[in-house]
Amino acid sequence: MSWQNYLDEKLNVRRNTPLWRKRQVINHSNGRFLTTISGEKYLNFSGNDYLGISQHADVINAWQQGANEYGVGSGGSGHITGFTQAHMQLEQHLADWLGYDNALLFSSGYSANQGVISALLEKEDIIIADKLCHASLMEAAALSPATLWRFLHNSPDSLSQRLNKTSANKILVVTEGVFSMDGDQAPLRETALISQKHHAWLMVDDAHGIGVLGKQGQGSCDDVGIKPELLVVTFGKAFGVSGAAVLCNKPTAEFFEQYARHLIYSTSMPPAQAVALNSALNVIKQADSEREYLQQLIYTFRQGVASLPIKLLPSQTAIQPVIIGDEQLCQTLSDYLQSKGLWVKAIFPPTVPPQSARLRITLTTRHHLSDIKLLIETLHAFFSQNR
Ligand SMILES: *Cc1c(COP(=O)(O)O)cnc(C)c1O
Repeated sequence: MSWQNYLDEKLNVRRNTPLWRKRQVINHSNGRFLTTISGEKYLNFSGNDYLGISQHADVINAWQQGANEYGVGSGGSGHITGFTQAHMQLEQHLADWLGYDNALLFSSGYSANQGVISALLEKEDIIIADKLCHASLMEAAALSPATLWRFLHNSPDSLSQRLNKTSANKILVVTEGVFSMDGDQAPLRETALISQKHHAWLMVDDAHGIGVLGKQGQGSCDDVGIKPELLVVTFGKAFGVSGAAVLCNKPTAEFFEQYARHLIYSTSMPPAQAVALNSALNVIKQADSEREYLQQLIYTFRQGVASLPIKLLPSQTAIQPVIIGDEQLCQTLSDYLQSKGLWVKAIFPPTVPPQSARLRITLTTRHHLSDIKLLIETLHAFFSQNR
């Protein structure tokens, strides 16, 4: 098959279906509202900036100061020229905050997950991952020479069954603190106990828990008092910036410095970004009242939609998906909300399991209580017209 035929075939499968992906240009966003390039203004219910930190004056200022001091780029990987005092201070700050020996910075969560799994696992090893783990974890595991098994979502029994079936020396159990498309939380205490019993290491990706859960926003693991061998935190969500870090003990950090190709062969984040992240971390530590307010918004939303003919997931987090199932109806609902000035993007398979197309509604402290009420009323209006 020629290149042209291959592309045509692949594109035609999706063209004119709700699965066709298209990026929309955003002109301006302040966390609460976003404006498109054609000047239309929407209330934003699709972002991951749960605490509105992307717009925080201290953090913006820190980034500007950082750029004045260091310039805009790091000039190389951390092993060459790209590990500045700003990077070192951020790593130490993160390690102290989360109670680990070391933190290692990566350019993104995607790259952190790839870097960790590709460095640690060999052919005879086993990765046992929750079925709903993020694409970056599943892809890293699939590319790894180790064997990948999956356990039923949030099921300690299913995990135990898998662990009972292997005698591999190196086993990595992988899960998330808060699941990105469902908003529910993993049973981390049981997961940690079971992993420990089988001498497996536990890796927790807390992309959506860090900053919003636990005391001082220390995340899902702190919230239940566990300390996995590997904790991945990302900075594109509640931190409001981008980038990621892996928290681990000292020998593991030394190992990654030697063997994690994503650290060695990729330009480190700009130093100014590290300065901004340090400032974002200070904001997060002091954001108890914002986290409380977020809980209030979550409660208001769940109460308000409880009587609708929709499936609401058991989520206590800022991710409140509305499961529709049918892809066309889901797109119709998303379009309807958009026509009413509400930006709520539909998520389709394969990002989520088949027959579970959904609106992934997210809440942020930038929202006013009246915004949540408007969303609730608009959902009620749609369902009273579409019974
Ligand atoms: C967003 C996300 C990632 C990827 O992080 P980026 O920094 O955006 O690359 C990884 N894991 C989970 C669970 C995520 O939600």
